[in-house]
Amino acid sequence: MSASIIDGRAAAESLRRRIAERTAQLRGQDLIPGLAVVLVGEDPASQIYVSSKTRQAEEAGLRHFDHKLPATTTTAELLALIQSLNSNPEVHGILVQLPLPKAVDSAAVLAAIDPNKDADGFHAVNVGRLSLGEPATIPCTPLGSLILLKQALPSLAGKRALVIGRSNIVGKPMAQLLLQNDCTVTIAHSRTRDLPALCAEAEILVAAIGRPKAIAGDWIRAGAVVIDVGINRIDAGNGKTKVVGDVDFETAIKRAGAITPVPGGVGPMTIACLLLNTVNAAIRARFGAAGETLPV
Ligand code: NAD
Repeated sequence: MSASIIDGRAAAESLRRRIAERTAQLRGQDLIPGLAVVLVGEDPASQIYVSSKTRQAEEAGLRHFDHKLPATTTTAELLALIQSLNSNPEVHGILVQLPLPKAVDSAAVLAAIDPNKDADGFHAVNVGRLSLGEPATIPCTPLGSLILLKQALPSLAGKRALVIGRSNIVGKPMAQLLLQNDCTVTIAHSRTRDLPALCAEAEILVAAIGRPKAIAGDWIRAGAVVIDVGINRIDAGNGKTKVVGDVDFETAIKRAGAITPVPGGVGPMTIACLLLNTVNAAIRARFGAAGETLPV
């Protein structure tokens, strides 16, 4: 048996199309969803992420406000910027690209974002809303992972799900989302004993570890749906590097029922979900809870 491949690029394209259609309708109602992107310093990876985010925002018809600041920017200066974005009615989503320089108090900056404009869903208020099962802005990577998972497995109720990784941005919110979708959820982490035994039971396996090929194919339960969040750059052996996931894809496709590739799986969904969060924030800001937000 060979797993079906869950195509994250196609899913992200279709989500971006839906977002562009809704944005066009909103423009007709004189509402242009606006995303503010704050980048501090010269980190090359962050610069690439930010330019993809703004390009895709533009393509989907959103307005974007770019704030590129020097690495010497202070916490006080950033807090002042966040306050001005919070009170700007044209800004519906605020994204502060992480990591911030070491001298900046990142927690204070993230906490200063208006929770209703928190495009990344990292604010404590949104974390709390998600865990209470209230409407919340959901972190983009777990949200994109859930969309891909539902494509492969429309009914999640009662399924045994294993999330490997307990970070605040991926593992924990992913586990909350699966719980909300009536899965029986186990969270594994660096101190977990006998990970292969847990994998053997999992009908859904989400790997968010950050270690190349940490999950061996023969650990996977036959027919499981595998969502590989990992992005790891390794030596390709020809003087070049390549990107691989946390799951050993070549062996896993022989056991899994469906699997996301790396690259081309969860990665493309993350930015699409950032746009989704921004458009939905704009709808809620204008029309309140009665606003017709884009469904997941
Ligand atoms: P993190 O370093 O914050 O967390 C890693 C987690 O893995 C920790 O909770 C740790 O306990 C666990 N872990 C480490 N070693 C383990 C082991 N041997 N067995 C079991 N658990 C172990 O990382 P993160 O920010 O959650 O990211 C995880 C991966 O996902 C990284 O590869 C990252 O690049 C990738 N990522 C991808 C996207 C995307 O858009 N696709 C977005 C965010 C993160």
